[in-house]
Amino acid sequence: MRASAYPLVDAAEAAALVLQHTPVLGTETVALADAYGRVLAEDLVASSALPPHAASAVDGYAVRAADAGRTLRVVGESAAGRPLSARVDAGTAARILTGGVVPEGADTIVMVEDTRVDGESVAVPAGLKAGTNLHRPGSDLRAGERVMQAGTQLGPAEIGLAAALGAPRLQVHRRPAVALMSTGDELVEVGETPGPGQIPDSNRWALLAALREAGAEVRLLGIAPDRAEDLRTLVTGALHQADALVTSGGVSVGTHDLVKPLLESLGTVHIGRVKLKPGKPFTFATVFPSPAPGAQGKGEDKRLAFGLPGFPVSSLVTFEVFVRPALRKMQGFAQVQRPSLPVRLGFHAQAVGDRTEYHRVTLRREGAELVATSTGSQSSSRLMSLAGAHALVRVPPGDQGLSAGSVVEALILALP
Ligand code: AMP
Ligand code: MG
Repeated sequence: MRASAYPLVDAAEAAALVLQHTPVLGTETVALADAYGRVLAEDLVASSALPPHAASAVDGYAVRAADAGRTLRVVGESAAGRPLSARVDAGTAARILTGGVVPEGADTIVMVEDTRVDGESVAVPAGLKAGTNLHRPGSDLRAGERVMQAGTQLGPAEIGLAAALGAPRLQVHRRPAVALMSTGDELVEVGETPGPGQIPDSNRWALLAALREAGAEVRLLGIAPDRAEDLRTLVTGALHQADALVTSGGVSVGTHDLVKPLLESLGTVHIGRVKLKPGKPFTFATVFPSPAPGAQGKGEDKRLAFGLPGFPVSSLVTFEVFVRPALRKMQGFAQVQRPSLPVRLGFHAQAVGDRTEYHRVTLRREGAELVATSTGSQSSSRLMSLAGAHALVRVPPGDQGLSAGSVVEALILALP
């Protein structure tokens, strides 16, 4: 063991520093079929009004409101996609179906239920009002109106809007390509029988899921042994095709912890230790795929490298705090952080000296409030403290902690 040369960085400062070094990735064009979950890279402006013409909202008769209470001659029919070429003049009506274009001259639609039909004439009730039972052109959207801002994530309604406006493709941000690797001689592939002192590599699968949820395209690099040369070969090979590298393990101060020295030889380690629990050894660097002399001058070659701690909860919590916001910034998300909501603490959250703690909680509704319960032992090896958790409560450093009954903002992972 040796003392770490890295200063302990405040957790919030470290998170800000990571974002400072994180670029927004370039854009690409995707077809609507591939647009789900992507982030719009430009504002979407309505090229035409919606609806483009006055359309009937019901099945009935298009008439003039001034003809209320009269019997009218039916001049034809306007169905969806088959507009009527004739006009509706005084004393006449047109049969109209839902979605049909309101014919020239008509200003209101009478529902078929409110009419009496006799051959080619129709009797309409008294007291008609112009503009009833129809969608005016541009009533949903005016031409030129901004429909969606850059930074919007595309869900079903957003994709539907783009389609309704006739846009078959959208300009979105590229997804970050991330190389993911576990480190440690004690790790075996999940499903293999661990030998003495060995454990399954669980972090890789947990982090793969977390990366995908955050929108990354992941390349799995497997398990790197605790040998400097092997680690270097794996990492430098992967960096060429990745925007970011995520490793777990090998960042504490044991003699087998090789990630920090490797990242240092490939670029700049900006953060080597954080005042955070769990996750103190979290490491963040910017590195270059080709550490040839002079290569470091080329800004465009820079990659982000996240050395996450090995303990399962530490790796996932540091992912939440540092990696997920960075991946979202890369994709152009307007909102990079998890949403937060006020919750009432159902327990006393102990502070941990000079470190910020992210306490894992479940939530339940009590009237209009959300009440937080601790998930139990917050040990960094105990994944059960995070499994099923709804939120993270940030407990500031100091000796006060957060008292039971107080209301604090919690980062929401999932709602109960
Ligand atoms: P390290 O930071 O490499 O010293 O790892 C700290 C602790 O996390 C050790 O108990 C490791 O066995 C454990 N650990 C490291 N990597 C993994 C992994 N991929 N899956 C599960 N546990 C791990
Ligand atoms: Mg290790």
